[in-house]
Amino acid sequence: MIEFDFEKLLGSSAPDPGCDDSGELMDEYCELVLRGDAVPDRYTAFLTHMTNCAACREDMESLLAVLRQGEKTGRG
Ligand SMILES: [Zn+2]
Repeated sequence: MIEFDFEKLLGSSAPDPGCDDSGELMDEYCELVLRGDAVPDRYTAFLTHMTNCAACREDMESLLAVLRQGEKTGRG
């Protein structure tokens, strides 16, 4: 299971960039998570949107699942 630090973000006043901008960052963010890299500050707004938008959160979880499958097969 991958855990997200959503709770850390609660109470922050980061702007919500909306679905379109978040979609652009989603691939990058998922790759960071899968590599176990630190998540740069510039993803704060993206993560804020993830806390606010269930649809995007589901998209992200689906994308993570797909990417993890890809890793298992050694693709790339
Ligand atoms: Zn959204």
